[in-house]
Amino acid sequence: MLSDRELLRRLIAFNSVSARGDVEIANFVADYLDAAGCRVIRHEYADGARVNLIAARGPDAPGGLGLSGHLDVVPAEEPDWNSDPFTLTERGDRLVARGSADMKGFVALAINRIANAPDDLAKPLTLILTADEEIGTVGAQRVAADWRPEWPRPASVIIGEPTQLRVVRMHKGHLKTRITLRGKPAHSGYPHLGDNAIVKAGRVLHALTELVEELKAERAESSSHFPECPYPALNIGLIRGGAAVNIVPETCVIDVGMRVLPGQRSTDAIERIRAAVTKAMSNDPGALKFEVTNDSPPLLCPEDNDLHKLLCQITGQRETVGVSYASDAGPLAAIGIPCVLYGPGNIEDAHRANESIEIAQLEQAGSVVDQAIAAMCMNGDR
Ligand SMILES: [Zn+2]
Repeated sequence: MLSDRELLRRLIAFNSVSARGDVEIANFVADYLDAAGCRVIRHEYADGARVNLIAARGPDAPGGLGLSGHLDVVPAEEPDWNSDPFTLTERGDRLVARGSADMKGFVALAINRIANAPDDLAKPLTLILTADEEIGTVGAQRVAADWRPEWPRPASVIIGEPTQLRVVRMHKGHLKTRITLRGKPAHSGYPHLGDNAIVKAGRVLHALTELVEELKAERAESSSHFPECPYPALNIGLIRGGAAVNIVPETCVIDVGMRVLPGQRSTDAIERIRAAVTKAMSNDPGALKFEVTNDSPPLLCPEDNDLHKLLCQITGQRETVGVSYASDAGPLAAIGIPCVLYGPGNIEDAHRANESIEIAQLEQAGSVVDQAIAAMCMNGDR
C-alpha cells in the first residue's frame, strides 16, 4: 500500500478532467482496492466511458460508514499556473495541483482508510467514488438511479468536499432547464414568410424575469442558514438564437438554472418554471419546448443524524453550516442515504490556477475520519 501522500501524487497524475472521463483513474483505484482485499463494484455508464466505483470491507450487510468523493476534476487551462497542474508540488505548508482540494486529497485518504481497514470490522466501511461530479453530480445521479439492493448500503456517508474541516449538513441544489422556441426562417426582406423565434423568446424572458423577482421574496425553513441569498435564485444564464442579421431566426434556446434551497423539492421548482413559460406562450404552445437538463438535488441532513452528531462531537462544532454549492450528497440523500459534507481544503482554492490544500488540514481530516471509522465500524453499538 502507498502512503496517503504518494497515493495522492498518483491520483493527481491522472488527467481526469470531466470531459475526458475517469476510466483510467477508476481502473487504477479498482486494482489498488482489489489488491488490498476489498470488494469492488464497477458501475459503468455512458457505454463504459464513465465508471463509478463502490468498494466495501467488513460484513456483507447494510449499515456502517460510507466515505465518498469524485474522481473527476475541472479543466486546468488557466494560464497562471506556476507548476504543472497534474504534478503534485509541495510549496511551503501546502500541496499544489489540480484536484488537490477538490477533491483528490480526501479521496486519497478515503481509499487508504478502506484499503488498510481490518477485515473483522463490526460494521461495514464503504467507499463510493463517482465520475462527472463537476458537470452537475451526473455520476452520483446515475448511482442513485441504478442503485441495486445487493450493493453495500452505508447508514450514513461523509462526502469529503473541501469544507475547511467544517461539518456541513445542508447545501443548495442546482436545477438546469432548457427552453427552446421554434419559429420559421425567412429572408429578412420577406418577414411575412417567417416567424421570429427571438421575438417569442422575448415574451419568455419577460415571464422569467417576473419569476426571478417573485422568488426573491420567498423563504424556506433553511433560509436562515443562507443569509447572503436566502431565496431560490433563478439565473437566466445562456441564450443563443438566430443565424444572421438578414435572416428571420428559426430557433432560440434559453438555459435557466435554479439554486433550490435545502428542504425544497426540485419537482415544485420545475413546475414553477414550466408554468411561467407555458403561460407566456399560451397563444403559441406548439413553438415551445421545455426540458429539464440536470437535476442535482439539495441536501438537508437532520441535525440529529448519528454521523452528523458524531462529527460535530469529534470536531467540537456546535453550529449548523450550509454551503451554496451542490454535491454528490444531494442525489445519495434523495435515495435515503443520509450524507454529511466534511473535508480538507477550501472551496475558494478550487476551480482556479494553483489550486492547493494545506498539508495540516489533510492530516487533520485523516485523523477525524479514523475516529469516525472507529466509532461507526469498530464497535457494535451504532
Ligand atoms: Zn468537488
